[in-house]
Amino acid sequence: KLDYAEKIANLFGAGLEEKTVHAVDEVNLAVYPGEVVGLVGESGCGKSTLGRVMAGIMPASGGEVRWKGRPLTSLHGEDKRAMRLSAQMIFQDPMSTLNPRKRVIDLIGEAPKVHGIVKGREMRDYVAALAERVGLDPSYLDRFPHQFSGGQRQRIGIARALAVKPKLLVCDESVAALDVSIQAQILNLFMDLKREFGLTYLFISHDLGVVKHICDRVVVMYLGRVVESATPDELFDNPKHPYTQALIRELPSVTDRRRVFTPIKGEIPSPLHPPPGCHFHPRCPMAFDRCRVERPVLKETAAGHVSACHLNDLATHQATHATAEPV
Ligand code: SF4
Ligand code: MG
Repeated sequence: KLDYAEKIANLFGAGLEEKTVHAVDEVNLAVYPGEVVGLVGESGCGKSTLGRVMAGIMPASGGEVRWKGRPLTSLHGEDKRAMRLSAQMIFQDPMSTLNPRKRVIDLIGEAPKVHGIVKGREMRDYVAALAERVGLDPSYLDRFPHQFSGGQRQRIGIARALAVKPKLLVCDESVAALDVSIQAQILNLFMDLKREFGLTYLFISHDLGVVKHICDRVVVMYLGRVVESATPDELFDNPKHPYTQALIRELPSVTDRRRVFTPIKGEIPSPLHPPPGCHFHPRCPMAFDRCRVERPVLKETAAGHVSACHLNDLATHQATHATAEPV
């Protein structure tokens, strides 16, 4: 029986050991200052793990994470502390990370106090300003998390992250639990904060529709591997990987609400025993012999657009893909 750490190691072993770092390098899963990068895939594809590794809260079991060009493992003391503060995570359910017995003022003020970012007597003003900035009524600072709605709690989580003056926010399904109208509000808030504080985002979501409108670049993952990466427009207009094509087909259509929902057939395989060759082959409608034995590598098919699929090597790709049946 594997423990969690081992599972994660294996999950990444599935790609990292071989070449995920390489693959990530090829698509630049470098996140550049000021960028909004979307990381998309079904649950269990490794995107949360990758996000945690990039935020420096989980060590990589293979490969290397660099912060401003320096490996995280080489950072110590003040450098390490600065890095950890610079990258903050915002999770799906703030209740799981907010101590229910603490008041909002303390929840938001805790880290800046510990790290000496704000002096004790300036704390209330500091927290009130932050609360106001994220759309929370500053007169509620003495309330407890359970006294707020889901959307408000997410605002508390955002204020808490901002309180330590981060550069990178890693948002892991940060709007997934919210109603659609609240989702839009929180996404708008993220984009406003980006402009105001010069933030960079790694935006993790299972929902391509959510990342479409806010990201500069979308990276699609499947079972621990990056399978495609492009700008949102390019990805939606010209998806190359059959997995990406299936994800796009899954999106509810705004123009045609009667359209049939077409889920990707089959279960996502266990990351502990990924299929050989292309990990997607058991679910891929286009799979051919080579897919079952040879791992496809990322190739650039248009400027800034890479995908890992053997179809890239076939001249008939366009024709084949145009006539493909939905998955
Ligand atoms: Fe499908 Fe083969 Fe491409 Fe994998 S490599 S996505 S199985 S066509
Ligand atoms: Mg997850």
